[in-house]
Amino acid sequence: MTTRVLILGGGYVGLYTALELKKRAGRHVDVTIVDRRPYMTYQPFLPEAAAGSIEPRHSVVPLRREMKGSRVIQGRVAAIRHDQRQVDVTSDYGDERTLEYDELVVALGSVSRTLPIPGLKEFAIGFKYVEEAINLRNRVLGRLARAASTDDPDLRRRLLTFVFVGGGFAGVEAFAETEDMARAALRYHPELSAKDLRFVMVEMMPRILPEMGEEMGEYTLKELRDRGMEVYLETKLESCVDGHVELSNGEAFEADTVVWTAGVKPSPILGSSDLPLGPKGHVICAPTLQVTDEDGTVVEGAWAAGDCAQVPDLTKEQPAYCAPSAQHAVRQARHLGANLADHLRGRELTDYKHKHLGLVASLGLNKGVADVMGVKLRGWPAWFMHRTYHMSQIPTFNRKARVVLDWTTALFFRRDLVSMGRIHEPRRAFTEAADS
Ligand SMILES: Cc1cc2nc3c(=O)[nH]c(=O)nc-3n(C[C@H](O)[C@H](O)[C@H](O)COP(=O)(O)OP(=O)(O)OC[C@H]3O[C@@H](n4cnc5c(N)ncnc54)[C@H](O)[C@@H]3O)c2cc1C
Repeated sequence: MTTRVLILGGGYVGLYTALELKKRAGRHVDVTIVDRRPYMTYQPFLPEAAAGSIEPRHSVVPLRREMKGSRVIQGRVAAIRHDQRQVDVTSDYGDERTLEYDELVVALGSVSRTLPIPGLKEFAIGFKYVEEAINLRNRVLGRLARAASTDDPDLRRRLLTFVFVGGGFAGVEAFAETEDMARAALRYHPELSAKDLRFVMVEMMPRILPEMGEEMGEYTLKELRDRGMEVYLETKLESCVDGHVELSNGEAFEADTVVWTAGVKPSPILGSSDLPLGPKGHVICAPTLQVTDEDGTVVEGAWAAGDCAQVPDLTKEQPAYCAPSAQHAVRQARHLGANLADHLRGRELTDYKHKHLGLVASLGLNKGVADVMGVKLRGWPAWFMHRTYHMSQIPTFNRKARVVLDWTTALFFRRDLVSMGRIHEPRRAFTEAADS
């Protein structure tokens, strides 16, 4: 008999669970993946995609190509009724359908965790998806080009002021990589100089990069400040209505770009499901990655992992939960796939246990910071380690090869720093032609 397995979300967890399950249970499972996007996003490469070091398309993995033998449905999960084994899916065009299943894997990941700050929703941009990375790159390069073409000093100042809110891992990488690209692009704008660029980071906590420990956080802070970047600690963004930025330390200035990188929260769609959720909105899981209720009773037929799941971290004193990271997501996914295959064969399940190995971060070309299993690296060695590690981790040989080719080409011909800003208004030239 074939078991219908429905996987919600085709990111790290969705893709790796499906691959593992197919490998172990083969023709005994009928796997369907639902995702809004037809690809898995390799998020650690988004800062490099935003900085023009790799082609954005190469930081995503096409699901249909990798998931041969499984069904991929592009659509938004709108509701989960596990008691009826049903999920409602809506396409971007409004078409609705209901999918039925025997076993459910919840892999919906997380979304940006925002705050009710005036102007934030209307003016800022997030940094979790490839479209946001492409937009940021075009935006920064476009602002440079426009600033170089104006004589208005106030407008120029505003165009060249870039604010990043949130000094966690993803925020620091995006901040440092984008500044590095903007600085490199100055060579094509003799009207501008490095002192015209203003990169500002706002962080509520007393330090940045908390995921890497105090020593590396302080090193990174000094590095960024030495590059002329402004980092405000213990400071909040109070408002950014129409780009008028107000900070809790009393500073106020105009900025044309505000990037929100202040953390994530589990996919809000889980709120319209009948699955048991923890205090922060994650699906509650046992170490076997089966969904459980608050008392620890297994909810039959439901599994979860990754950023949307509250998975006990068995390497720490309980209660402690695994942090949202690709490192856990990939390993949990493989474990989940193996456990689900064993469950279908009536075998005993095993617990997920993984000690976080550390992190590597890129701070721009040839600059980086790393703390891996207690070994701390700075500058070029850390940057090299970052590239080597992520090249080995991005799924499929196809993507690895394309990324290495991007890096190699950039080595000989420099990275491509042309703004494709007009890509965001593709009908403009045509409508102007029609109007004339
Ligand atoms: C810029 C950046 C850099 C990072 N760098 C690192 C790093 O270097 N190391 C590290 O360990 N971690 C890193 N992370 C974190 C890591 O990428 C995440 O922890 C990981 O992606 C979580 O995997 P996941 O499968 O749970 O979620 P995701 O990979 O986010 O997948 C969730 C999927 O669900 C889909 N989805 C969501 N809602 C719906 C819906 N309603 N309907 C249909 N589909 C939906 C999404 O489109 C997405 O494809 C980084 C994150 C970011 C943003």
